Amino acid sequence: MKRRTHTCGQLRKSDVGQTVHLQGWVHRRRDLGGLLFVDLRDRYGKTQLVVHPEESPDLAKHAHELHAEWVIEIDGIVMARPDGMINKDMPTGEIEVKITELTVLNRCLPLPFQLDEAAKATEELRLKFRYLDLRRPEMQETLLLRHKIANVVREHFTGEGFAEIETPFMIKSTPEGARDYIVPSRVFPGQFYALPQSPQIYKQILMIAGMDRYFQIVRCFRDEDLRSDRQPEFTQVDVEISFADQDMVFATAERLFVKILRAGWGVDITTPFPRLKYKDVMETYGSDKPDLRFGLPFSNLTDHFRQTEFRIISSAIESGGAVIGLCVEGQAGLSRKEISDLEELAKSSGLMGILPLKLTAEGFAGSLVGKVADDDLRKAAAAVKAKPGDLILMAFGKKSEILKGLGVFRRKLADRFHLFDPNSHENPSLFWVVDFPLFERDEETGEVSPSHHPFTGWNREDDHLLDTEPWNVRSTAYDLVMNGSELISGSIRIHDPEQQAKVFQMLNIAPEIAELRFGFLLEALRYGAPPMGGLAIGFDRTIMALTGGSIRDVIAFPKTNLAQSLMDGCPSQVDPQLLKDLYITVNPPK
Ligand code: ASP
Repeated sequence: MKRRTHTCGQLRKSDVGQTVHLQGWVHRRRDLGGLLFVDLRDRYGKTQLVVHPEESPDLAKHAHELHAEWVIEIDGIVMARPDGMINKDMPTGEIEVKITELTVLNRCLPLPFQLDEAAKATEELRLKFRYLDLRRPEMQETLLLRHKIANVVREHFTGEGFAEIETPFMIKSTPEGARDYIVPSRVFPGQFYALPQSPQIYKQILMIAGMDRYFQIVRCFRDEDLRSDRQPEFTQVDVEISFADQDMVFATAERLFVKILRAGWGVDITTPFPRLKYKDVMETYGSDKPDLRFGLPFSNLTDHFRQTEFRIISSAIESGGAVIGLCVEGQAGLSRKEISDLEELAKSSGLMGILPLKLTAEGFAGSLVGKVADDDLRKAAAAVKAKPGDLILMAFGKKSEILKGLGVFRRKLADRFHLFDPNSHENPSLFWVVDFPLFERDEETGEVSPSHHPFTGWNREDDHLLDTEPWNVRSTAYDLVMNGSELISGSIRIHDPEQQAKVFQMLNIAPEIAELRFGFLLEALRYGAPPMGGLAIGFDRTIMALTGGSIRDVIAFPKTNLAQSLMDGCPSQVDPQLLKDLYITVNPPK
């Protein structure tokens, strides 16, 4: 086989007259009576090939048989396109290649979906024929962007003195709150390795080993119910720094994100990023990862309605609930139908309902007028900073529930009223969330679990709360949120073995069990562990944030929501002998 002289994205007007050899896929064949055109495609672009049937009837006959996605090679001569046929949108749009010889290297079966019409194909079909889907230029661009950003990451950390060190995939479990994927040992029947949910313990041990600054672009595995932005195996940029404080960790991550957004979008962002307290973002936006490209902050209005006789509100408050409101600027003119649509939107966000109140130039309007004292309404309007022309929306009920519902509702309101342009890359919103609680308490069982992971330190000012109100202890964990998506999470760690043992004890992990599961870490901490902190960047999510695509679009070979790979058909049964060798019997549910 001859080697190509150029790729399909390379030829320009200055190449006119050259004899070339090109190889690639038939993107499209068009028969325009007198002329036959073939668009030849590869990763680098498309080049228009042309055959003149009256000049070369045999060649035309041959070219006529070509179909989409056949692999061909051609010899030809680069010609300038006639004036009316220049395509300014195509880098090769000023030329075409007149074929002198054509060889079919491989044929293609009838396509399960047309590449140009992939949007019409089901995702199952696209995943099953992933190699076809990945031939699409958009998909290739995403993989190439991913590669580019991975290079930015490697250069950044290398430049700042970090070393990339691989940690094992077959490990003793590292808990990140999900279920482990496990690998059976043949040599030790009945014993298992876990695939890492993250390299957390290993990177801490690298700090104890004196490696000082570590990073790794690494696959992590978590067996959990998959949500839209999750995959059972996903990639993190894992980072750890010895003798670190929060400012140091934030600064290196901020410098990286400046480079990522410059490389990905060509935008310049300013640092340092704002730091918001967990409690404040939860109370103001109902989420620990609010999208702050738009406003719509909440105000707690409970105190303004304590005297009200309006039953729905007073009974909610009497039973310990809250009234929380927000103001939608300039929307006091909505019709009754539009208001009732908003009520539906509130319900689909998990709220029981929403109380609308319009502030017009003539005063308040809406169903609350007359039922709630004007003075109370005035105070509520002042609290949400409403002006004449604005619409006030209020939710009432159990505080934690309405905050959560309003958080979802707020995002939907932003879409409904076009409060920001989701496709604009200008002014992305990036901020840190700090002062997360160290523990979460299950409202029903009362059980505490780590909000981040059990190796996260806490704010020593809260020592006195550890035994009495552990859920009020502030941790040293942090997240970075960009445009409503959590891209980083990390913490300053515990480096004192006694404190680490204390956290295990608070998590109700008996000392023997802690010894069994984490004994090696506790032991390592006793051999001179430096203070340390770090973070992990969700790499797939970062690429998603840059492209706006789904998580399955940014991973070459992703899995479905049921953790299946449709292309190769896994998971699947294995050779019974393999199970025998591992002393494993399978008892599937009936
Ligand atoms: N291991 C953590 C995670 O995967 C990140 C960190 O604390 O560095 O979320």
